[in-house]
Amino acid sequence: MKKLGIYIHIPYCRSKCPYCDFFSLAKTDTAAAYIAAVERELENFAREHNCIADTLYIGGGTPSVLAGEQIASLISTVRRLYGDALEEVTVEGNPSDVSEEFLRTIRAAGANRLSLGMQSAVESERRALGRRAGRAQVAAAVEAARQAGFGNISLDLMLGIPAQSARSLSESIRFCADLGVEHISAYILKLEEGTYFYRNRDKLDLSDDDAAADLYLQAVEELTESGFAQYEISNFAKPGKESRHNLKYWRLEEYLGIGAAAHSFVGGKRFYYPRDIERFIAGTAPVADGSGGDRGEQIMLGLRLKEGISKPLLSEKAIQKLPLLAEQGMITETEQTVALTPQGCLLSNTIINALSEV
Ligand code: SF4
Repeated sequence: MKKLGIYIHIPYCRSKCPYCDFFSLAKTDTAAAYIAAVERELENFAREHNCIADTLYIGGGTPSVLAGEQIASLISTVRRLYGDALEEVTVEGNPSDVSEEFLRTIRAAGANRLSLGMQSAVESERRALGRRAGRAQVAAAVEAARQAGFGNISLDLMLGIPAQSARSLSESIRFCADLGVEHISAYILKLEEGTYFYRNRDKLDLSDDDAAADLYLQAVEELTESGFAQYEISNFAKPGKESRHNLKYWRLEEYLGIGAAAHSFVGGKRFYYPRDIERFIAGTAPVADGSGGDRGEQIMLGLRLKEGISKPLLSEKAIQKLPLLAEQGMITETEQTVALTPQGCLLSNTIINALSEV
């Protein structure tokens, strides 16, 4: 029987952050109908496929803008339809939304991993990102999650925030480490077309590429020193606390994405729901997006991981490039595997292209 990861997209947020192009709206008036539509799609898929789920990830958007009972209902539906084999159930939340009641309710339903969008522990940087919660609220959210029984908490950090410095980044990393969380995702800010940051990029004090690269290398070093081992380009965890669900994406394992803008990879095929809440509620079928899992994709996704890829995946031409890349400090090799170094992660697109050559 197939073992899937299930992703549920909650396309609602309290307000829209100025740098974000994830699919979400700053109003929740359609939420009840949306949850019912997610449960309908879960039922339909389960009817047609014989499978169980071992990971569930409820992301967004901001799932914590909904009531704890609504998230609990989604978790129970997945358990009912896809079996009781769920080992990891992650819910994303915003530190300013996650009330004690919300946390207790989702924990009782089976959530065992919480991912909080913090981005920075420095108030001026958080304000620049449009974040409402201050660091005291982040600390209170982590404490409330512990009280509710969460033993696996992840915080997001952003690199290249306007006016961020080496010193302010160290302060954020220290803050996370002192809170004792198990997992940190650290992403370099990307200017996405259509966002406020993109339109105002000339007026914002943004890091240039070199400064962002320095912040990234600093983050890798300081997170490692603080006990968070890097296991993917942007993800760091205490031993055994890696995100099992997200590992499925990079290891090309199967996952089902339900909700507006959610993507799936099942049976070698990719498909997705359009970025449209009304159409999702109305029952629009997912759109086919071709096949996936070929050699190029295995190289592209596998090289994101610290474990790297197996050398037999590479063509003779690509193998010949390895000595120079190793000499430049971009890759590390064993007899059987190739992986990117932190410096290589910064040039991952170029290296992936070079090693994908046939
Ligand atoms: S809370 Fe998250 S998903 Fe929502 S707008 Fe901000 S960054 Fe985007």
